[in-house]
Amino acid sequence: MAFSVHVNMERCTGCGNCVIACPVDALELYTVDPATKEKIYAVKNGKSIHLDVKAELCAGCGVCVNACPYDVIRLSGKGARIPSEA
Ligand code: SF4
Ligand code: SF4
Repeated sequence: MAFSVHVNMERCTGCGNCVIACPVDALELYTVDPATKEKIYAVKNGKSIHLDVKAELCAGCGVCVNACPYDVIRLSGKGARIPSEA
């Protein structure tokens, strides 16, 4: 795996900006139904439970890092485009 995307889920609001922004659809945001344990592709109460990163798809472009309004995504890996600190 070339790149690693880490999301601080304590601070993620589930806004979905990163999912929309990712050019290769490597991010998946969902909640889990407490009864059926099935994935629900909608955010409940503005809060996501899971943000999955399909690392095999990730191109290390850094778009998701820039797209997150709460600055909770960190990208690492050789050649990753890590945005400079603003
Ligand atoms: S770094 Fe780029 S390819 Fe990887 S998850 Fe973020 S937006 Fe998608
Ligand atoms: S853009 Fe940031 S706050 Fe919004 S879902 Fe992605 S990681 Fe969470």
